[in-house]
Amino acid sequence: MITDSSTSNGSGLPPSEGSDSVVAHRPGLAIGIKETKPPVDHKRIERAVREILVAVGEDPDREGLLETPARVARMYAEVFSGLHKDPRIHLKRVFSESYDEIVLLKDIEFQSMCEHHLLPFHGRAHVGYLPDGKVVGLSKMARIVDEIARRPQVQERMTEAIANMMEQELRARGVVVMVEASHSCMTMRGIRKSGSMCVTSAMRGVFRDNLSSRAEILSLIMNPKHS
Ligand SMILES: [Zn+2]
Repeated sequence: MITDSSTSNGSGLPPSEGSDSVVAHRPGLAIGIKETKPPVDHKRIERAVREILVAVGEDPDREGLLETPARVARMYAEVFSGLHKDPRIHLKRVFSESYDEIVLLKDIEFQSMCEHHLLPFHGRAHVGYLPDGKVVGLSKMARIVDEIARRPQVQERMTEAIANMMEQELRARGVVVMVEASHSCMTMRGIRKSGSMCVTSAMRGVFRDNLSSRAEILSLIMNPKHS
């Protein structure tokens, strides 16, 4: 399945490879971010998971399931930890630079949870921008993807949220976000189409308005390797 949340071409991508690959960047400084303990009610999740086990005809008191509710509670606290964070803080510290070419961070791996089925979807995000005097540390771009992904989510909204945040905080001349993901709710249930990828994109500023800028950023995203 291929969908495209913008008017741009989001289809026909070659498979990506490798981990985070950087096309062009300014070195970012590592800033220590304090992570607050998420206010998640573990006991409540445990009771709910036990109820689900009973409801599907299982015995929650058999040996193999005894620790399951507690494990699931810890897992949900982790995979939904983004609910208790504001990813914007990662974009608050910017550096003044005269660099005015595209900055693109490709193949940012992420894990998220489909809010319709509470099943995982995972894949890669490509995030790029055209600075207007301000650049941000590259790891911050990866962090906002991570934190936005770690909440009950749909891919389309996640794509838009990353683009909006980049646009608002950096006041960049252009922003592009492309997300490619495989959804468990498509592969393990329902229509059961393994191998299908959902592609969404969001373009802002010059990447939406200027055809040659858009073509340039799309070719950078689609080309498998750069040196
Ligand atoms: Zn789903």
